[in-house]
Amino acid sequence: MRTEVETARRSAALFERARAVTPGGVNSPVRAFQAVGGTPRFMVRGEGPHLWDADGTRYVDLVGSWGPMILGHAHPAVVDAVRAAAASGLSFGTPTVGEIELAEEIIGRVGPVAAVRLVNSGTEATMSAVRLARGFTGRRKIVKFAGCYHGHVDALLADAGSGVATLGLPTTPGVTGAAAADTIVLPYNDRAAVAAVFASDGADIAAVITEAAAGNMGAIPPEPGFNQALRDLCTAHGALLVMDEVMTGFRVSTAGWYGLESVPGDLYTFGKVMSGGLPAAAFGGRTDVMAALAPSGPVYQAGTLSGNPVAVAAGLASLRAATPEVYPVLNAHATRLGALLGDALAAAGVAHRVQFAGNLLSVFFAEEPVRDYPGAKAAETWRYPAFFHALLARGVYAPPSAFEAWFVNAAMDDAAFEVIASALPAAAAAAAAASEGER
Ligand SMILES: *Cc1c(COP(=O)(O)O)cnc(C)c1O
Repeated sequence: MRTEVETARRSAALFERARAVTPGGVNSPVRAFQAVGGTPRFMVRGEGPHLWDADGTRYVDLVGSWGPMILGHAHPAVVDAVRAAAASGLSFGTPTVGEIELAEEIIGRVGPVAAVRLVNSGTEATMSAVRLARGFTGRRKIVKFAGCYHGHVDALLADAGSGVATLGLPTTPGVTGAAAADTIVLPYNDRAAVAAVFASDGADIAAVITEAAAGNMGAIPPEPGFNQALRDLCTAHGALLVMDEVMTGFRVSTAGWYGLESVPGDLYTFGKVMSGGLPAAAFGGRTDVMAALAPSGPVYQAGTLSGNPVAVAAGLASLRAATPEVYPVLNAHATRLGALLGDALAAAGVAHRVQFAGNLLSVFFAEEPVRDYPGAKAAETWRYPAFFHALLARGVYAPPSAFEAWFVNAAMDDAAFEVIASALPAAAAAAAAASEGER
């Protein structure tokens, strides 16, 4: 086996160049490999289940641009739609037909969503949904759950998952006390804690925002009845329930997590899959709540590039290609990947839990099921860098953080699973041999 120095020479040179011009060399922190060490791979091409890096190495991609690429990379229908849209002009700053079609596609899939506003990122979607919830209810406080990530919105960064968890930050400098003062952070899957906070502060709570199923502290599904309890408490106290489906939306079923559990939110946020891989996201929900948004109502929200025709074309083509037949395939791939992971780790004698939230999955180096953020942090995450790098060196691109979900795509084939299956025994052995405090 060649060393990383030999195989990632071009990526290493590019990383050095990038670090000279952009903080940490990346435009989103988890890409820097800080939690796993080593050289981030600069990718030059993606097709189907594969990525190729600047040194010409091919990987089976289990990140999928952090969710969007459920059909695999460079899906022909999506690429064609983008080409056609681009050839007709890149942005007009006027309404376009595609925006109606994308809104109709989303509304047609997710029952509780009656109206949609398009934005450019999941962060913008949650930020706008929170503003709208406050504007609609006239209340200040927002309840969120520790380990859930809703983008880098000031008020929602407290105890957040994803990159915040990866870097081990409790919160971040630059968020003032005032911006976070109206955020109440509760333990995930803890119904009693939510009931207690509604009992004490119910009249001030504008919204509860939750990942419909947690995917940003690893995959942690809501326990049976948890989302329903949120629904009931919000209804009883006149607060809105914001279901953040940026990760789960259109991935775990045609209708996202709502399609699996049918607990209706008042507002929804979407991104990732519905973007087709271009910058696009959305929020939507109840007619009366969405009507409070400018220009039909007083709550301001806007965007120069919102509903961009090229991004909308990519999103629409992706959703149209993500037919009902695609979802059993994704589920089967997740099951197959989970079984391979579990078998290899068991054979190497590593304590682990492969957890699923629909077809999202992740590996916790833990004895017991993980149900919340303290549980995720208590796992033996120090085993992860060795596990990750052994996979990487054998052509498998897993998430470069123990706190991120693994994403399958519909383009994975037997050959891709073969690569994973051959890489896993060595990776499991590396995880077994890892020791705390070393990486
Ligand atoms: C990725 C994600 C976001 C943020 O979306 P960006 O497009 O990265 O801003 C918000 N919520 C959830 C649940 C996510 O997974």
